[in-house]
Amino acid sequence: MHWADVIAQEVADTCEHPLIATGISPTGIIHVGSLREAITGESIRSAVASKGKDVRLIYLIDSFDPLRKRYEFLPEEYEKYVGMPICMIPCPCGKHDNYAHHFIQPFLDAVDSLEVHCEIVWTHELYAKGEFAKWIDMTINKRQEVIQILHEVTGKDADPNFSPYDPLCPDCGRFCKANYDTYEFPNLEYSCKCGSHGKIDIRKMEGKLKWRLEWPAKWMIFGTSAEPFGKDHAAAGGSYDSGKRIVSEIFGGKAPYPIPYEFVQLKSGGQIVQMHKSLGSAVTGLDAINMTPPEVLNYLFLRSQPNRAIDYDYGMGLLDMADEYDRMERAYFSNEFTEAEENNVAAYVIAQHNHVPEQLPLQISYRHLVNVVQMTKDFDGVMQVLGRTEDMSKATDFDIKRLQVRVDCIRFWLANFAPENVKFSIQEAVPANIELSADEKAYFKALAALFKDIEWNAEQINAAVTDAAKDGIGNKGAFKAMYKILIGKNMGPRLSPFLASMDRQFVLDRLEQAAQ
Ligand SMILES: [Zn+2]
Ligand SMILES: [Zn+2]
Repeated sequence: MHWADVIAQEVADTCEHPLIATGISPTGIIHVGSLREAITGESIRSAVASKGKDVRLIYLIDSFDPLRKRYEFLPEEYEKYVGMPICMIPCPCGKHDNYAHHFIQPFLDAVDSLEVHCEIVWTHELYAKGEFAKWIDMTINKRQEVIQILHEVTGKDADPNFSPYDPLCPDCGRFCKANYDTYEFPNLEYSCKCGSHGKIDIRKMEGKLKWRLEWPAKWMIFGTSAEPFGKDHAAAGGSYDSGKRIVSEIFGGKAPYPIPYEFVQLKSGGQIVQMHKSLGSAVTGLDAINMTPPEVLNYLFLRSQPNRAIDYDYGMGLLDMADEYDRMERAYFSNEFTEAEENNVAAYVIAQHNHVPEQLPLQISYRHLVNVVQMTKDFDGVMQVLGRTEDMSKATDFDIKRLQVRVDCIRFWLANFAPENVKFSIQEAVPANIELSADEKAYFKALAALFKDIEWNAEQINAAVTDAAKDGIGNKGAFKAMYKILIGKNMGPRLSPFLASMDRQFVLDRLEQAAQ
């Protein structure tokens, strides 16, 4: 059984109204790893739903977290916002409601395309609505027990001054110190470094629980059944361990089924890519969505157990990922696969989120599509070129839609991340800066004569290319000469399918021009 099914079975068996929680702290640019969390959550949701259960997936945006420092990608004036909740800091571009919104909205739009069926919950709104009040009150009343639990779980010295809840100073807008001795529901006394002191109301958006308390409080608010989270939270003595005890001993509830996941490592051409300091990452979660077909991205994250690290290779590895997806799709529909492939075929099925196509969709080799996209300006052009080599008449709406998304992903990839050696553009005429020998010109003449009479397909083209080269410049010389006059490079896409994708007359005209 696939791991998502195993977890889903456990959740379906033990929960009456299962709720899967995922979340994110949008304090900066969103990393590819965040996609793993969203996709893992959705895969569990859809797997539980397929067992006939009414299940919800929530996506918690930690919009009340403070800005911890001025990141390098922020303008200098943002120094003054450090320590303030990110829902109260202005958006850097001026188009969003606030800082949190600025960083999360593009990501949410993109996650939509992955068909993650979640309800968005803004943490600051939970505070504003008083949803946390009961748990804040319990935390304050049992503060000594909380301190003892944290001491036992983390192994650190018990700190009698530990503050589990930070009031928000109404004067400077930063989190500050509480005086618990005078606490009387719902009012808590605060004093701030800015000189302000007074009382706040814990039922309002006037203070925030520390993460180790806030997390179990969220479990109580939603009755969370299962939750994927980064492995840092799962470490011994980490916040899942303390949360488990706080939720049962302080709040009287139960911790969700934990799904700790390993991080995602960025690679390009098989090499590990270090984080880009000023951006926070070389490839953001948004980039990954823009350049990876959603079904392939889903598959990539579901193929591996959550506790295994995932490499996201945005160089040529991206093409391998897409090829593997298509291969598993064929394996699923032909029902022919090895035992070793069983898990990956199951991942293919789960990646469809209960909408497995009824028949094998149209498959155009992804590598071929990368070439076709570079031969054309728009999607109509792509359809026209594909029509020369494929039977497109049987393509369904689903096929066309998928093709369209793949073409968009490839264009984004080519424009931003593709290695130079896959890029080319068909020249409008024989490039002016190339030298052609007499032998090469003779070859073009001979080839043109053969091209006039063959059937225009890769097989016959290949035979003609070889035939014409036999007594002259040889195969190697022929390929080089052809790439020179077509794309102005010494190398290019596999020649015969490449030529087959072009209009015959276009190729004949080019050969004639080059032979002169
Ligand atoms: Zn903005
Ligand atoms: Zn203050």
